[in-house]
This record gives sequence, structure tokens and C-alpha cells, in this order.
Amino acid sequence: MDSIHETVIDQANILSVEDDHTSGAYPKRPAAIVRGEGVHLWDAEGRRYLDLTSGQGVALLGHTHPELVKAVQEQAARLITCPEIFYNDLRQAFYEDLAEKLPGNLSRFFLCNSGAEAIEGAIKIARLFTERTQVISTRGGFHGRTLGALSATWNPRYRKGFDPLLPDIQHVPFNDLEAMQSAISEKTAAVLLEVIQGENGVIPCSTEYMQNLRRLCDQHGVLLILDEVQTGLGRTGRWFACLQHEVTPNILCLGKGIAGGLPMGVVVWDRSLGTLPSGSHGSTFGGNPLVCAAARATLRILEEEQLPQAAASNGETLLEELRGFHHPLLREVRGAGLMIGLELRQRVTPVLKKLMSQGILALPAGPTVLRLLPPLIIARKDLEFATEEIIRTIEEMEND
Ligand code: PLP
Repeated sequence: MDSIHETVIDQANILSVEDDHTSGAYPKRPAAIVRGEGVHLWDAEGRRYLDLTSGQGVALLGHTHPELVKAVQEQAARLITCPEIFYNDLRQAFYEDLAEKLPGNLSRFFLCNSGAEAIEGAIKIARLFTERTQVISTRGGFHGRTLGALSATWNPRYRKGFDPLLPDIQHVPFNDLEAMQSAISEKTAAVLLEVIQGENGVIPCSTEYMQNLRRLCDQHGVLLILDEVQTGLGRTGRWFACLQHEVTPNILCLGKGIAGGLPMGVVVWDRSLGTLPSGSHGSTFGGNPLVCAAARATLRILEEEQLPQAAASNGETLLEELRGFHHPLLREVRGAGLMIGLELRQRVTPVLKKLMSQGILALPAGPTVLRLLPPLIIARKDLEFATEEIIRTIEEMEND
């Protein structure tokens, strides 16, 4: 037993000190999470939770996967930092491992530290390669909250107070090819979108739309940037969600779970586009050996434990069960693999609170969607338990 497990930590003190110092940017839940193992998290008072959030879609392998822990521990004892002005063995191996998983000629990489930073990179790279300025993204799209990424993010709630944002970024309706066609002009550098809109309520695009969009971009010399920060690395039942539509983007953005929970973002592009001019972009921590070791271990574990396949089959069962539950408060169940949204006919916050009081952590996606992003290692029995509890909670909401 480790010391954290044995020690009772003063939860009230953690909450009050954090509240005293926090930025205030996050809507916080009243638990101090101090330990994780597999699909479970524990708070400071020893209460156990089933984690259907993966820490915002990050913990694909669950928490403290022993192989990941070992890889990180070994690399931490060997070399933690090494900027890209030098070469490094772990970075080299990670490039090779990831390139092997990617479709087409996606094998030029810029390594950074978060999803938003990957989007920033993708926008800069698209402008550089095309020598055009405009980026078209979609209504409902979420791409992060740094100023460039925020300019591509649609929700006015996130944008309020930060104008002026980047010029030449336009939003058109999602899944609407005609709208995209009308918006594309000679100054369009790129189209940027998610394959499944996550924050907007788990809304998938159709295969027809994605394939026609690919053709449209090719006709106009426009780069297709897919934001797979949330959908990538097996989450939707395939290594990348674009594979479902048999579409390869020119630029792909990855983040969240790619290094199993250590901070990493990746911009990948088709090598026919070329390389960046020296000094045109950079990141101090990008591609450091510690995260590269974690990312290599993550890719290996995803492969060895066949987690994309597990996400596909468990996700299908989960979708079927939830779709078989008919209730006046439940409008629709959507998703792919282990990325599932339940659209309610009421606000989601009370449902999340009730689930948490029953030991289940889930996420919102917009005001009325309950979003499930469990670790891909989740066992069927845990998913069955989660399904039963979610159904019971929705049934009980009606009586509240
Ligand atoms: N893109 C998508 C699709 C996301 O879901 C997110 C985060 O939720 C981001 C970008 C931003 O990633 P980060 O929070 O790591 O900056």
C-alpha cells in the first residue's frame, strides 16, 4: 500500500487553499482527487469514483498503467529535457512509431504541449505553406482557448471579452458542404474541423460530407486540417476517427491522450508539403524525452492491448444499451467507440452531480449533453455498472 492510500488528507483544506489561489477559470467539483488506478480515482477522504471522464479524454490507458509508469520512471532517471535543437533517441523512436500508425504521407511532425498549441501550429503551418490567410472552421467547433485556437473555436461564451481575435477566420455550419463551398475563396488557406464535434455535444460528421469536403479542398488547393485532439488514438474505435470516412487530411492535430496523461500536442502534416523554415516556429518543452517515452509506451500499450478494437466493440454495446433506454428526458444518444453523448431534455449539471454522489464521474458537452469518455481499458462489467447507474439517475431526475 502506498502512503497516499494510507494517509487521510484534509480535503476541506485542499479545497479552501485551492479556492484561495485558483484563477477562477474552471467550474470546479468539490473533491480533491489524490490517487488513481485503472478506471478508478480516489478523493482525499478515500471515496472511490468510476472515471468516465479520463481526465477530459486524456487517460486512454486508465490511471497509473504499470507499463506507462515504468517507462516514465526509467526515462526520468535517464534524461528529462532536451530541446529540439539537439537530436534525441526517444524522439526519433516516437516519430517512427507514430508515423507507422498514420495514414497516407502524414509523417512530418511538430511536437508541442497541448491541443490548443497543436491548433496554433496547424494554422501557422497552413498559412506558411499556402501563402494564403483565411481559415474556415465550423459552427459548434471547439479547438482550444489560446488566441489563435480561440479564433477558430465557435462558442461565443468562450470568445466573449477577447476581441479582436485573429482576422480571416470564418465559421460555417457543420456538415453543410454548400456552406463550405460558398465560403471558400482564393484567400482560403485551410478548412479546420473536428471529425466528431466533442465540446459541442458529440456530433459526428457524415462520411459523405467528409469525403466531399476532401474533394472540395483538393479542387481549390485548400488544406484540410482535422482536429483529432479528442477523437484520436483509438477513442472512437479506430486509431484516428478520419479512418472511418477513409479521408486523410493534409494536417492532423493530436493531443490529450497521446502521451498517456503527460502534456503533449502534435501537428502532423503530409510530407509533400515540405518542412518549415528554420526559426518559423518553436516550443521549449516540445518533444522532450520524458513525454516522448510516455507517448511511445502509450502507442505500444494501445497496440498490445488492442484498445482501439476494445473501444469499438465496447462502444457499440454501450451505444446499443443506451439507445434501448427510452425516457422522456432523453432526446438522443450519439457517438462512436468510447466517445458517447446523451442529449437530455434538461440541463446536464444536476445529472452530473447526482452521478458523482453515486461514485461516477462524467462530463458535460454543452448545457444539455452528458458526455462519456471512459478510459479505453474499461471492462464490460464497469460499463454495465455505469449504464445501470446512468439509467437509474435519469429515471430519478424525473421525480426530483
Ligand atoms: N481541440 C479539441 C477537439 C479539443 O477537444 C480540445 C480540448 O478539449 C482542444 C482542441 C484543446 O486542447 P487543450 O485543452 O489541450 O489545449
